[in-house]
Amino acid sequence: MSDTREKLVVTEKLRKYFPVSAGFMKKNYIQAVNDVSLHIYRGETLGLVGESGCGKTTFGRTLLQLYTPTAGKIIYGGKTIFDSENGIHENMLPYRRKMQLIFQDPSASLDPRMTVGEIVGEALDIHKLYPNKKDRADRINELLTRVGLNSEHANRFPHEFSGGQQQRVGIARALAVEPEFIVCDEPISALDVSIQSQVVNMLEDLQEQIGLTYLFIAHDLSVVRHISSRIGVMYLGCLVELAESYELCGHPIHPYSQTLLSAVPLTDPEKNRHRQRILLEGDIPSPLNPPSGCRFHTRCPYATDWCKEAMPELKEYSPGHYAACHMLDK
Ligand code: SF4
Repeated sequence: MSDTREKLVVTEKLRKYFPVSAGFMKKNYIQAVNDVSLHIYRGETLGLVGESGCGKTTFGRTLLQLYTPTAGKIIYGGKTIFDSENGIHENMLPYRRKMQLIFQDPSASLDPRMTVGEIVGEALDIHKLYPNKKDRADRINELLTRVGLNSEHANRFPHEFSGGQQQRVGIARALAVEPEFIVCDEPISALDVSIQSQVVNMLEDLQEQIGLTYLFIAHDLSVVRHISSRIGVMYLGCLVELAESYELCGHPIHPYSQTLLSAVPLTDPEKNRHRQRILLEGDIPSPLNPPSGCRFHTRCPYATDWCKEAMPELKEYSPGHYAACHMLDK
């Protein structure tokens, strides 16, 4: 059956390397994102998980071109906005209205010298929306109300708010320019557990009301499983598995995804007590000097000599279920 869903965002072999100096005349690179190819359907939430330092945040920022990609291709709404091979690098200003970001740390992402009204209104001014003063004020009030704040909050400064309220301001700022697509970069990891579900529920409600598309980045698989229709798993800059949420959580086929899932607590305490956790040995290797072949081979219990030599390709093993592992080819 052909897939008729619209792909709003597509990346092809998207790569982001950061140069670092390694002595006189020598340059080395942090290989933060390595040839990641995926697509995000309009109106869906694609979750992206992996350990700290796996490149998921860098991928989100490179996708928005807050970091200039080192190589690869980005297609947005059917138009190629970046293509290293053909020298395409579109002006991003018009796309900033369509593609927005919610930051991980709300307090660090809000300018402490600006009022909430100024913070939310700044994007309106940059894009020359609502030039009339009253319309602008009405729009700011509407946005604050939409995220559970009120018009009185517009005159206050970020330090007068709790973490959850600050994140609501960050969300109102992202919504100000009426985006279609939002990269949610660990939007709840800096919040109290009691507030996390409120923010997740609000993001889900906004998606339903406005028809937003999300890339939801997090390291907590239980949250990602709740909010995402599909989930991608990253390890050391590479996408190692991608599937529908229920499929990935029920039948992970990549050894790294299996490890991540074995660490997610189950709701049934009895089952939780008897389940077997897969423990990985060693730390995540440095992206400055990643292992040869499959980047997971230094920690994978199934690694063979071939894994040390050849990087596995991401392949589709069942409809919509992709993974990169030599073991699956046998
Ligand atoms: Fe493990 Fe080899 Fe598969 Fe990599 S390719 S995940 S090392 S079995």
